[in-house]
Amino acid sequence: MRSSRVPPQPLPRLSQTLPERVEPGVCQACGEEKNVCGWQEHDERDKPEAIVVWLCQACEKKLIKPHPRLYRPLQANEPFPA
Ligand SMILES: [Zn+2]
Repeated sequence: MRSSRVPPQPLPRLSQTLPERVEPGVCQACGEEKNVCGWQEHDERDKPEAIVVWLCQACEKKLIKPHPRLYRPLQANEPFPA
């Protein structure tokens, strides 16, 4: 069961478990270039951080949904952290 308590250990980060970003708009997990979205990473307290990972729709379903850390999709015209 999931609880809202602060976990005892830092949660894993997709920005560290995925290969490094090649360029914006390319999925970091599989290299797909279509339907790729930027996802802003958050810290353990759900505070947004200046970290973005890029994932296509297929990898988003596999990686973002079950991930314990909070990720937020960037809007198409939203400036992202470099
Ligand atoms: Zn992908």
